Amino acid sequence: MAVREVENIFADILERAKALDPANARKWFEKLTALHLDGGSLGVGCPNEATAQFLCDNCKSSFTRAAQQVTGHLVTVDFSVDHDEKSPRRSRLSRPGLKLHPDYTFDNFVVGPSNRLAHASCVAVSQSPGNTYNPLFLYGSSGLGKTHLLHAVCCEAGQKFDEAVIQLLSCEDFVNRFIRAIEKGNLAGFQSQFRTVDTLVIDDIQFLREREQSQEEFFHTFNALYNNGKQIILSADSPPGKIPSLEERLISRFNWGLVARIDPPSYETRVAIVQKKAHLRGLSISDEIAEYIARKVHANIRELEGALTSLYAVATTTGKEITLELAQRALEGQIKSAARYISITDIIEVVTSHFDVRLADLQSKKRSQSITEPRQICMYLARNLTKHSLEEIGGHLGGRDHTTVMHACSKIGECERSDPQMHALLAELTKQITQTSQAT
Ligand code: ADP
Ligand code: MG
Repeated sequence: MAVREVENIFADILERAKALDPANARKWFEKLTALHLDGGSLGVGCPNEATAQFLCDNCKSSFTRAAQQVTGHLVTVDFSVDHDEKSPRRSRLSRPGLKLHPDYTFDNFVVGPSNRLAHASCVAVSQSPGNTYNPLFLYGSSGLGKTHLLHAVCCEAGQKFDEAVIQLLSCEDFVNRFIRAIEKGNLAGFQSQFRTVDTLVIDDIQFLREREQSQEEFFHTFNALYNNGKQIILSADSPPGKIPSLEERLISRFNWGLVARIDPPSYETRVAIVQKKAHLRGLSISDEIAEYIARKVHANIRELEGALTSLYAVATTTGKEITLELAQRALEGQIKSAARYISITDIIEVVTSHFDVRLADLQSKKRSQSITEPRQICMYLARNLTKHSLEEIGGHLGGRDHTTVMHACSKIGECERSDPQMHALLAELTKQITQTSQAT
């Protein structure tokens, strides 16, 4: 959505909210800004923490109602401090809702023969969107890095082209938004949202199969973007011609640009990936251990990460350096089973008791440091010790969205690496969690 448009809509929402809540409006509705308005959520920027807290506690429902009346959609409203009040508004608002995984960058992507072409084409496109390979179509089996590369392109292009409007979403999301637009009679809004971007990235496009109406819509979106020299990037589990029930005219368009395959990684690449992922988690493992893991797990990089999750649990629990023997036990299932049965409830129990806070506080909107830190630690530990998705973790902690969980994970991970006290605290909590989960 264009910046102007967001600002206009926000001005209308603010007017409505004032009308709905005149008593509070006089004192509290000054100097509010729109941080973002996208994907069913409105971020309201406040001049300070006290205002954010007050609005959150007292004015949420009037803002939610106002936003719903103005946009015609159910919009969730969040209040936070606008730290950036003086910076040029355009650059902050030009990419509302682009949610990128902080670890999915080019720097964190290990290049090898299996993914060299895909990687190089993504780098090229990020440097000059619309001018090199258009469309760019990546395909390969699950867990080989497609989503990682798509996020990396968006991250890189976003930094390079400050004003560019970039949309990245899963195919399911595209289809669902399309259906919602039809239901609400707002097809024009949907079309203008997708046909006016500079770069459109759709992950797992194979889910368009058997969705005739969505295919039709996507066909026109594709044409509009392509004809205007805008970049399109797609990923799928198979090449265009092998996606069942995909219309011929889409298959042919997907083949217009570059189709790059990603193969399962070679042994050497797997070793490098294990090292890279261990480093990102603050784990130090020897070459011997990385080689051992890479020999044991070959098909899917997500499984390599699962092996590291088990090792992480062992290392932090015992506080010991990871030895080959420990790695063998972790991979052979003895310790994996301990990690596997840890539930979010175990984690929350240990963390709330350690910090002496209540679950209701963690689930609330409170933003004081004494609540935020345990909440973020819960998210981080749940990410590292369970197999739950970011969405599920956010759901357990007060219905927060996956970007909040991602942010918490990268923040606590960073502290774990740089602050020995945090490292020790997380080790102690992990130890207690493992014991709790085994006792139940
Ligand atoms: P896909 O979308 O192909 O199913 P993902 O992009 O979700 O796969 O990758 C699964 C996991 O493997 C992610 O955590 C990703 O960071 C990691 N991964 C995949 N390929 C690489 C690579 N070459 N270097 C580093 N990490 C990788
Ligand atoms: Mg993926």
